[in-house]
Amino acid sequence: MIYILTGGPATGKGTRANILAEALNIPHIATGDMLRKVALKNAEIREKLQKGELISDDVITHLLEERIKEDDCKNGFVLDGYPRTYRQAELLDEILQKQGRKITKVMELVIPDELAFRRILERKKCGYCGAMYGIDFPPKVEDVCDKCGGHLTVRTDDTKETLAKRIETYRKNSRKILDFYKEKGLLLTVDASSNPESVVEDAKV
Ligand code: AMP
Repeated sequence: MIYILTGGPATGKGTRANILAEALNIPHIATGDMLRKVALKNAEIREKLQKGELISDDVITHLLEERIKEDDCKNGFVLDGYPRTYRQAELLDEILQKQGRKITKVMELVIPDELAFRRILERKKCGYCGAMYGIDFPPKVEDVCDKCGGHLTVRTDDTKETLAKRIETYRKNSRKILDFYKEKGLLLTVDASSNPESVVEDAKV
């Protein structure tokens, strides 16, 4: 079971990937989260994330290849945020072929741009426990985490300028990737404005 959730920023890839991964009892692999961890120790990657630029295909693919070799991925995984370029889609096919595995389904999440801006610019994270808040799930007290009382802050790459760039980058890179999967009969396009739980039904082949 290998699922790819794709879509522009704030389409809710992470939320749906989490729900699906839990329902299928397989890991949720988010390349953005992997890179934010690496960025804590690597200034070059940190700078790229802050500018909203993509990390090179070789670097991110190497990280991913190592991750999916781990034992918890033996029954599959839900990928969120990869592939971001056509080359990454090709590289993923090569890696999976070597491992004798196949993609089950690719789900493209679509929302209006206006909703993406509202979701992103109002998204906040607890600096202490990592809990996320946003327009669909605000904290009870402004800027205070419901769970642990920690202070909520915006993600450092969540600015209007960075978001516009990320949407543009997504549009530029995604067409060819989506056609690649469409030709293989793997692509499902989903209206992701609401109801994230529907991902479990959508995943059924
Ligand atoms: P995300 O959390 O998925 O929005 O990703 C945050 C940032 O991480 C992106 O804006 C990129 O800079 C970087 N990133 C995440 N996944 C990839 C990928 N597959 N290839 C290149 N860069 C990536």
